[in-house]
Amino acid sequence: MDLKALRPISYGLYIIGSRKGDRINGQIANTVVQVCSEPPTISVAINKGNLTHEFIEDSKVFTVSVLCQDAPLSLIGKFGFKSGRDSDKFDGVNYKLGETKAPIVLEHAVAYMEAKVINQVDVGTHTIFIGELVDAEVLTEDEPMTYAHYHQVKRGTTPKTAPSYIEEKLAQKEGDIGMAKYKCSVCGYVYDPEKGDPESDIAPGTPFEELPEDWVCPVCGAPKSDFEKQ
Ligand code: FE
Repeated sequence: MDLKALRPISYGLYIIGSRKGDRINGQIANTVVQVCSEPPTISVAINKGNLTHEFIEDSKVFTVSVLCQDAPLSLIGKFGFKSGRDSDKFDGVNYKLGETKAPIVLEHAVAYMEAKVINQVDVGTHTIFIGELVDAEVLTEDEPMTYAHYHQVKRGTTPKTAPSYIEEKLAQKEGDIGMAKYKCSVCGYVYDPEKGDPESDIAPGTPFEELPEDWVCPVCGAPKSDFEKQ
C-alpha cells in the first residue's frame, strides 16, 4: 500500500473552537467536510488527546473559522502546535463568542460556522463529530487557505496528532551543497536559507547562523536553539 496516494486529497485549513463551561479553546484542523445540506450539516475529525476534543465532548458544540490564504504561520502555529492546556490560545486574537458561546476566530478568516453535535463516530485515535449548523457568516471575499498552499507555499508542517499526518521525509535535492537547512525539533518546520522567512522580514539568502538571536520558529515560536542542522 502506498500511503502517498492520500496526498492528492484536497483540504482546507480551519480553526475549530469549542468550550467547556466558560473555558474556551481552539485548534487547527484540515478535516472539515459538509456532509449534507438539509439541514446544513458538517463534520470534523478531532484527535482524542486534544483539549478541544474534551471541550466538544462536554459542550456538544463547535465552531469552524475558515482561514484565508494569507493567514500567518504564527496564527496557525499558535492554534496548531500549542496546547490550550499550557496557554490561552485566544490571548491577543480577534475573536467573538457565538450563539453557542463557543469562540469564533475573526482575524484571517473568510467565513465561520457554528454547529451543535448531533452524532459522533469513534475512529480510533480520532472522533468524527457531526454537527448541524446553528449559525454561519461570510466575513470576507478573500481566497480561503488550502492545505496544499499551506504546505507548498507557506512551507507549514503537520503535527503528528493530525489525521492526515504521514511521516514526511524532507526532500533533500541531490547535489544540494548550498547553505544548510535547519529543522525545528518542536514542529518540523524547515528554515531554508534560500527562501528566508518573509513573515519575519528575513531576506532570501540569509544563512541560519546569521538569523538574529531573538528569531523564533515562524510556526511554533520555538527559539533558534531548538533547531537542528539538516
Ligand atoms: Fe517550530
